[in-house]
Amino acid sequence: MRPLTLILVLAHAALVASLSNCSSTSVQGGGWEARLGPVPVEQKVTPVQLLGEVHLIQDMIPRGTYGRRSYRPMNVRSITIHSTQNPTGDAWHHALALKRGALRAPKRPGGNRIGFLTWHFTVEDRATYQHLPTNEQGEHADFNGPGNNHSIAIEMCEHRGNDLARTIDNAAKLAAFLMYEHRLGIGSVVPHHHWRRIGVSPEHKDCPHFLLDRGREGATWRWFLDRVQSQYSRIIPGPMPRI
Ligand SMILES: [Zn+2]
Repeated sequence: MRPLTLILVLAHAALVASLSNCSSTSVQGGGWEARLGPVPVEQKVTPVQLLGEVHLIQDMIPRGTYGRRSYRPMNVRSITIHSTQNPTGDAWHHALALKRGALRAPKRPGGNRIGFLTWHFTVEDRATYQHLPTNEQGEHADFNGPGNNHSIAIEMCEHRGNDLARTIDNAAKLAAFLMYEHRLGIGSVVPHHHWRRIGVSPEHKDCPHFLLDRGREGATWRWFLDRVQSQYSRIIPGPMPRI
């Protein structure tokens, strides 16, 4: 039995504070490769097996509610990688907050279009939660820009006790699956930083901060993309769930 009320209060406070505040310190990504070892590219997997490795749990925002009140179909062109910058909320908490409409954002012309933050997946070390089907738009990147209009969003958890290396590895596996599902190349995998937020300073957010170098795509980001590409190379034809 979870102490629901307390968790919700803490999670909401932390989420609102952290998701609306993107200041961060840049941390070099050294050490993760040593923790994880190379991707076992000789261990082939079908798409459904790769999803099994990230322990996908589909826990969608109910259609017609909060961030899914209006149906917003999406042509997928890219995959955007974020991190939560939330030290207390795990993936389950984020799923709950999204389902309860707790992640509000001021709706305004040129800004947030629906009054809520939404995204597709939240990844942690032991599980991956899905909040939106990949053929619906989220509200996570750049207001009315191509990041929101055409991009699947993956949030990586940063809560205390979460193994960040494993989280990054799971995000790479999920991105590889989504590349396969939507027939995208590695050039379609971008950090939130890639997208321009018109009218916000800085226009390019330092997100996911631990995969950027001094707030920019550098060696750490290239390391992550190599990891995604290596995971992609493991995929062999087989059962292909559309998620
Ligand atoms: Zn972000």
